Order: sequence, then C-alpha cells, then structure tokens
Amino acid sequence: MMDDCNNEETGGIGFLPREKVESIKSTLQQGRLEETMSIIRKMIEDIDNAVLNIALTGESGAGKSTFINAFRGVGHEDENAASTGVVETTTNVTSYEHPEFPNVKLWDLPGIGTRNFQPESYLKQVSFSRYDFFLIISSSRFRVNDVKLAQKIRGMGKKFYFVRTKVDIDLYNEKKSKPKTFKEENVLQKIKKNCLQHLQDIGIEEPQVYLISSFELESFDFPKLKDDFAKELPEHKRHVFFLCLPNISNNIIDQKKAVIQQRIWLEALKAGAWAIVPFVGVIKGEDIALLEKYLTNYQRIFGVDDATLCKISKTLKKSSEEVKALLKSPHLLTIKKHKNISEKFLKFAEVFCSVNGGLLAAPLYFRKSYYTQLYCLETVANDAKILLSKLCSSV
Ligand code: GDP
Repeated sequence: MMDDCNNEETGGIGFLPREKVESIKSTLQQGRLEETMSIIRKMIEDIDNAVLNIALTGESGAGKSTFINAFRGVGHEDENAASTGVVETTTNVTSYEHPEFPNVKLWDLPGIGTRNFQPESYLKQVSFSRYDFFLIISSSRFRVNDVKLAQKIRGMGKKFYFVRTKVDIDLYNEKKSKPKTFKEENVLQKIKKNCLQHLQDIGIEEPQVYLISSFELESFDFPKLKDDFAKELPEHKRHVFFLCLPNISNNIIDQKKAVIQQRIWLEALKAGAWAIVPFVGVIKGEDIALLEKYLTNYQRIFGVDDATLCKISKTLKKSSEEVKALLKSPHLLTIKKHKNISEKFLKFAEVFCSVNGGLLAAPLYFRKSYYTQLYCLETVANDAKILLSKLCSSV
C-alpha cells in the first residue's frame, strides 16, 4: 500500500509523484543513498510549502460564506466564521484561512457587476494568478457574466467549477409540494439538466455542474467535487488539500490517513530510520513523549482533540468522559505499563508488514518510530470514524 501511489483508500488519487517514488526505489536499490535523501528532502519540502488558494465568486446570497465555513469545518457562529475574514481594501477580496492549515485560503471575490462587465479587468483586479482554482457559485441559474468569466478563466489556463448550492431547499420544497410523486434522484437530475442546458445555451461547451448543500457537504456532489479538485492539483498540493477537508465521511478520513501515511513513510526514509531486521524493542519513556506529540497532532487533524470532543459531546448530549469512553486514542498513552504498549505496536507492525509486504519491494523494515506513528494514526482515524457514526445516528 505504501509502495503504491494510487492506493484504494484514496479512490485512485495519487499523492506522491510516481516517477519520484520510482527514483527513490532505484537509487535505494543501487545504494545511492545521498541521491535518495536529496529526492526525499525535496519531496517533503514541496509538500510542506504547498500553498492552496481557492477563489469563490457568485452573487450575494448565493451561499459563498456558508460554503467557506462548511469547507473549513467552522460553525457559522464560531469566532472565525466567514464574514469576519481579512478584507483587502484595494480589491474588496476577503480571504479566510483554514483554522488548522494557514497555507490553505479561501477567497471570497466581489460579485461581478452586471453592466459593462469586463472579465479581463475583473480578474486582474482580484489578482487572478494567485488562485489554484475558481468556484463559480449560484443558488439559481448561472448568469451570462459567470459564463464570460469562466471562459476567460479557462482561456488563461486555470480551472473553474460551477457549483449550484442549496439543493436541500429544492428537495424540501419539491417534497412538500409533490409528496406523492417526489423522487430525490429525479429532482436532482432535473436541476442539473436545467443548469447544464442554460450553460450550454450561453456558450459553455461540455459544462460540468456540481449540486451541493453546504449544510450536508457529505451528500450530493461534494464528494465528487473534492476528488475532481484533487485530481487537477499537482501531487504535492494534494496532501494539504486532503488534510484540510472536514471530517464528514469515512472516505475523507481514509484519504487523510493515506496522505499522512505517505508523509510518515517519507520522513522515516529521510531519517534513515530503516533497518534490515523487523521492528523489535520496547517502548521507552522518551518514545512516549514523541508519541504524545504525534497523537495530539493527529487528534487535531481528525477532530478527536479535546476542544472538538467537547463540542461533539454537547451535540450528542453526553459528557466529554462518556464520549472519550467510546474511543481508543484518548487512552492510548495512559496505559501504565509501557510493555503493554510495546506489545500492541509489535503486533500492529507484524500485521502491517504482512498486509503491505516489504516496502519498495525490498527486504527493508522500518524502526519502531515508523510503526508507532502509524499505529497512532490508525487509532485516531478509527476514532474519527466512530465519532462520525455516532454523530450521523444522532441526527
Ligand atoms: P453569500 O452572500 O454568497 O456569502 O451567501 P451566504 O453564504 O451568506 O448565504 C445566504 C443564505 O443562504 C444564508 O441564509 C445561508 O444560511 C443560506 N444558505 C447558503 N448555502 C445554503 C445551502 O446549501 N443550503 C441551505 N439550506 N441554505 C444555504
């Protein structure tokens, strides 16, 4: 699995450039370690320095702020909810940082004027070149100006996506008005067909429209939208893209886990922490301190940290202690005897190796820090899935 850039958990989306992984393999096998290290260092640097800028445009009321908040996993009433972003006074563009990953920013662009609209000057005004992709948001029909803008964006070699919001309202209304004949699939199909037809009529070839509800991001077309984004991004940007997604589905949790696994793998290779004998040894006090660091970081990324658990416990109408009792990661390092932890990790390492085979198809094993990190990751990701299922069943 770690050897494969396109593993199943990620829906075939690769995170490490295949040719780079091939170079690592061949330089390692030929014993050119200096070269291997330099490839790995560069890959890690690229991943860590990746910056992602997502632009949203659409008329006022279309649902831009709501989407920005949902995407960042920020509640509407939270302190850093959209509408309190940083406004660039010269351009009237507002940016919203991701709370955990400040390299990821969503930009709320000013609405497009109706009269004498010039896409070129608009794009210049909003500093077009800084965005990785554009979302053109509408809660009704896309307007001629949206299309002009999309054409210009395409002409400049950037990607745009038409996003039709608030489909939950359409479904609700249809169900109320036609309870006997209502079929969700048919309603969604009709909305999409309408949008596509309209876009074609005003000149967009082979348009693609994503239907979403920002109140139910896990439903409708958001899962496809995020995978389509990811595929279009260069591999080194996919890491941070997946990490910053809200923990709203098992699929996203698996994708996050996969990108972190690959990052751990690179780090382990970089540290030269591999050996020709399988993992042995007992977890000691100093290992525990390091593990605590990993664990805390993963818990934040997967929403299993204390602050998030506190919020979740309110939603579930349980105490924080009751919620923690459902999970493993909060108790992972409180086990008194480190020997017990060692045994757990050893077992995990054995299973991991037997399932995944030798890394790089070579008889190479990693030392315990590699497996202990993976074990923490696995435990936290499983906890995230438990929380998700509890939250879903409480609705
Ligand atoms: P903006 O002006 O484009 O930023 O629009 P807002 O995000 O402020 O949304 C305008 C209104 O539409 C608000 O009352 C939102 O709660 C509501 N809204 C936005 N997106 C959705 C959605 O997907 N579903 C529903 N039901 N309401 C939405």
